[in-house]
Amino acid sequence: MSPVQSIKNKDLITRIKQSEEEIRTLTRFYLTLSRVNQEIVRAKDKTELLKEVCSVAVKHGGFRMAWVGLWNRENWRIETVASAGYEAGFLGKMKFHVKEDKEQRLLRPVEEAARTGKVVVNYDTELAAAPDSWKAEMLKRKYFSSVHIPFELGEKEVGTLSIYASDKNAFRDRELFLVKELASDIGLGLNYLEKENKLRESEERFRTLLEASPDAVTETNLQGVITTVSPRTLEIHGFKDPKEMIGKSAFMMIAPEDHPRAQRNLEKTLRDGKIMSAEYTLLRKDGTTFIGELDAGLIRDAAGKPKAFIAAVRDITDRKKHEEDLRKFKLAVDAASDHIIITDENAVILYANEAVEKITGFSQDEVVGNKAGTKKLWGGMMPQEFYEKMWETIKNKKKIFTGEVKNRRKNGEVYTALASISPVLGDDGNVRFFVGIERDVTHEKEVDRAKTEFVSLASHQLRTPLTAINWYSEMLLSGDVGPLSEEQSRYLKEVYRGSQRMVRLVNDLLNVSRLEIGGLLVEPITAKLDLLIADIIRESAFMETSREVPIRFAKPKESIELAIDSELLRQVLRNLVNNAIRYCSDDRPDAGVEIRLEKRVVEGIDSLVISITDNGIGIPKEDQHRVFEKFFRAGNAEKTAAGGTGLGLYICKMVVKAWGGDIWFESEEGKGSTFYVTIPLTGMVSRKGQKKLV
Ligand code: ADP
Repeated sequence: MSPVQSIKNKDLITRIKQSEEEIRTLTRFYLTLSRVNQEIVRAKDKTELLKEVCSVAVKHGGFRMAWVGLWNRENWRIETVASAGYEAGFLGKMKFHVKEDKEQRLLRPVEEAARTGKVVVNYDTELAAAPDSWKAEMLKRKYFSSVHIPFELGEKEVGTLSIYASDKNAFRDRELFLVKELASDIGLGLNYLEKENKLRESEERFRTLLEASPDAVTETNLQGVITTVSPRTLEIHGFKDPKEMIGKSAFMMIAPEDHPRAQRNLEKTLRDGKIMSAEYTLLRKDGTTFIGELDAGLIRDAAGKPKAFIAAVRDITDRKKHEEDLRKFKLAVDAASDHIIITDENAVILYANEAVEKITGFSQDEVVGNKAGTKKLWGGMMPQEFYEKMWETIKNKKKIFTGEVKNRRKNGEVYTALASISPVLGDDGNVRFFVGIERDVTHEKEVDRAKTEFVSLASHQLRTPLTAINWYSEMLLSGDVGPLSEEQSRYLKEVYRGSQRMVRLVNDLLNVSRLEIGGLLVEPITAKLDLLIADIIRESAFMETSREVPIRFAKPKESIELAIDSELLRQVLRNLVNNAIRYCSDDRPDAGVEIRLEKRVVEGIDSLVISITDNGIGIPKEDQHRVFEKFFRAGNAEKTAAGGTGLGLYICKMVVKAWGGDIWFESEEGKGSTFYVTIPLTGMVSRKGQKKLV
């Protein structure tokens, strides 16, 4: 071998060695890169990924140390997030930062990289233009060369990847290219992770929503195959396990007759991309159906391409039923012949039915928004006390108010209405609305009046012939005009009794009509009550009953003097005593009546209470609420005393009320009854009028 050749060979060997070295370095880098890429795909979070990158660089890249820093812009530090390899307190000691200094500071390579955003290569630590302290620490750890690559993290953050090699010049052009590649991969990986996290978060949020949603939420693929169902979906369709639904066509939830429409809507959603809302008959697992409102929309992928359908369903069967009920209800209320209004708690009218216009003449538009019961509309015709009492009842007592009201139509005509106003309370017990129902009773009242007048006239006309029959019967019976045979006398007695009953009926009718027309005269004059009662007892002894019933008067020790209309009191007591005698029990030999007087407070008024107690047939419980009604007679009374009219108590009540008193009773069938009548201790209320009772 010639010397020249040997030199050449040496040269060649060096070159080959160099190439081998280069190849080795490159391989190291490629290995590092591919491992890092694998890590990026596998990593679940940021620090984990960065740690892996560093350790891959050390393990597979054969580097001495690698670390990743994050530039914290608040304190200007580059903080270590991950590191691997031989570090020996280097990072802690260095405290890298990028703060602008007043006097120019010699930057360390990583600081320069972070500040400039460019890759900084330190080919040879000994020769680097950097602070000596740094150099010393570097050399101590055999960091003979290094590279520092900045990378962007998201939009704001800047990170640095620093790799240290134990030989000089470890990073030349080709390696640099790969290192940069590595950094950009890390950046991408981190961004991807970030997005992935965001996606996971939003998916989690979606899941939570799905679980909590009161709607039944279902996701399907574009072919309509169910992929996700919310708990509510299972519930409203009667399933238990999502497996029963997932993988099946969403049409399993819809009644067959609605399939074509649902299909069309689905296609439309896909075409227009808009949310479609529709009502369908939906199916449960057991085949029963319900009505659901379904909103369906598209889910798109990142590129905006439709990916899936999402649908939310609400069971609206109840709502539909309520709507239907409400519709019917409104129709009924609208069409009712009574005037119906609904007001807020201040009487401002919110609703008025059609009858309001028919009765008052004010259109619905004129009515709504105005206050009820004022002169502006049909009201304001009654005395102030009437409205005060009404408000007290409905607003403070929260009770129903009923009464007769005089109103004025739009054309000025006055009419009478029977009004009933009810408060509607909210859950908190406060008044929300008032419902007012009024019936125009003007016509009925006129008819009633005409009827009463007719009865009054007819009764009056009947009295004269009846009196004649009575007289002549009495005359014949007394034998004044010659003796009668026993048979004649028996028949005549029947005639007489009949005419007596007729007189009573005619008198009662006359009294009823007088009381109903109004204007009963009450003239209280001071009188001794015990005398009056003793009188009544005496009169009752002459009653035409088949039995004699003893009447006991529990006379008070001191005699009671009161301002009374003795005629009216006589009428009432006579009626009650007569009833007590007439309705005595046939199978009770000890039948008797007792009258008592007692002073006590009744309904807040100091009163004299007169009670008439009998031990007769009593009043059956089911009939008790009707005994003060006109013409009412209880079933047991019909049998005991056939001749009653059912008018006595009706008259009594009107009379007692007219004098400012009260009347009521206690009774038990088969045991007896007690009727109570009161007179205020201040005396009967005086009333001006023309009508007296017969
Ligand atoms: P009448 O006695 O003429 O039937 P009332 O108006 O006086 O009419 O009485 C109405 C009804 O009340 C009677 O039919 C009877 O059923 C019942 N009633 C009244 N008083 C008594 C009583 N003391 N005992 C039992 N029932 C009575």
